[in-house]
Amino acid sequence: MIRAIRNKLGAKLFISYLLVLLIAVFILVSATQVSLPGAFDRHLAGMADKGGFPQSPHGMGPGGRAQGMMPDLYRGFRDSFNEALAVSVVVATMAALGVSLFFSRSVVAPLRAMMQASQRIAEGHYAERVRIDGHDELAQLGVHFNQMTERLEQTEQMRRQLIGDVSHELRTPLTTIKGMMEGLVDGVLPGNADTYELIHKEADRLIRLVEDLQELSRVEAGADPIRLTAVDVTTLLATLEKRFRAQFAAKGVGLSCRASSGLPPVSADEDRLLQVMVNLVGNALQYTPNQGTVTVTASLVGRNIEIKVADTGIGISPEHLPHIFTRFYRADPSRSRQSGGSGIGLTVARHLIEAQGGRLVAASDGEGQGSTFIVMLPGAAGTVAGAR
Ligand code: ADP
Repeated sequence: MIRAIRNKLGAKLFISYLLVLLIAVFILVSATQVSLPGAFDRHLAGMADKGGFPQSPHGMGPGGRAQGMMPDLYRGFRDSFNEALAVSVVVATMAALGVSLFFSRSVVAPLRAMMQASQRIAEGHYAERVRIDGHDELAQLGVHFNQMTERLEQTEQMRRQLIGDVSHELRTPLTTIKGMMEGLVDGVLPGNADTYELIHKEADRLIRLVEDLQELSRVEAGADPIRLTAVDVTTLLATLEKRFRAQFAAKGVGLSCRASSGLPPVSADEDRLLQVMVNLVGNALQYTPNQGTVTVTASLVGRNIEIKVADTGIGISPEHLPHIFTRFYRADPSRSRQSGGSGIGLTVARHLIEAQGGRLVAASDGEGQGSTFIVMLPGAAGTVAGAR
């Protein structure tokens, strides 16, 4: 019995209400029994003084009620008082019991709902939510519980999607390699340099994909600490230009990098910022046909430094634009897959820029209209008015 009560919050609450009630009844009854005779005497004496009640020949003095007709009067009064008190105590107790039961249940009901919901969630039913009634602490707990469940559902969804995406990404090169190997074994494909080159290319794609995935998981988990320093953007752009000069020349795409004069340093992790810029300029080169141009500019806009990578390439249509930062998303799957793109680069880039306290956005007027990627980062402390 005691164990059952200990294990039930509702029973504990109910018993605590009951105890309060019992103590209140005990005090009420004892206090009235103790104070009743004195109060009776005082009131009777008061009435006698006003002449409203005949002074008993037996006297009324202290303890006077015990003499003459007074004892009967007092007894009669006490009995009727006790009777009224008993009725009131019974009615009040019943009402209090009802109210206690109601309140214990109303406290326990949402907790029980949360308990059941958490059990369902543990069984994998992530769509489970609890109903919110009112605004008290229990309702707040319910709101937080639902928020937590929503997060869990999203994480689970992302996990499933990731497994699906990764298997899909791995399947294409693996199927190609398998098909070529079978062709070689059956003698359908010639065992020459071209065939081996194709197999090598697919294997390369697989390695790149795995590397990209590793990078994405590290970035998403924040595994590599971000070290913010004051980075000189003019030097950064010069490094970029040097790095890409040969590749741009080979494809016949023009590259121009310029930072506005007197540009203050940006607050960033130099290596990570360079990594993002290499990705953006690399994409711009990849999606710009020859004769096109890629322009990288840096300028101060308010408290931020904006680095823009604008190309005159294939552009991005409005239906693809909102999704290009989503992992594995490719606006033109066949084209970017052919070039080895895994659709992870921009996801990593955005994570990295946000981890440095900045933003990365994309704009394009549509297909064939070129694209612009803008990195916004705060100016280094003390170099830009109002910067951190
Ligand atoms: P990928 O490795 O496939 O290039 P990203 O994450 O870097 O992956 O880019 C995602 C998609 O965004 C690309 O597949 C491409 O469709 C589109 N994209 C990125 N940069 C550009 C650009 N400069 N011009 C046109 N499309 C682009």
